[in-house]
Amino acid sequence: MISGRSKLSTLSPYFGPYIEWLLDYADSQGVSVSVLSAYRTFEDQQRAAAQAKASGRPAAAPGRSAHNYGLAVDLMGGDHSSSAQHEWLMQVGRAMGFYFYPGDRPHFEHPQWRELRKSLR
Ligand SMILES: [Zn+2]
Repeated sequence: MISGRSKLSTLSPYFGPYIEWLLDYADSQGVSVSVLSAYRTFEDQQRAAAQAKASGRPAAAPGRSAHNYGLAVDLMGGDHSSSAQHEWLMQVGRAMGFYFYPGDRPHFEHPQWRELRKSLR
């Protein structure tokens, strides 16, 4: 089962269709996925960064996150990011060429988002 799928509508056309495909594939394999976060405005990013900072996690400033350009998504396979379902999701994500940061397992990022951002602006 896939939840929060409507959030994907705000992703960049350079990224969203790949995530849609990934979720269809997960669903066909019986892997449940929740979409936690997709596109974030600079204001959303400001709030997310403040929350992360308060709980001691690193977070990008507004404009410095792929989320601010619709080129990243936070996904959760199964009920937590160390579940077997999440591991499966990351494995497929790596095969698709997405970039992952150590310590931020839900974050699936377009590997060329910085270059794309320039061509989109
Ligand atoms: Zn993220």
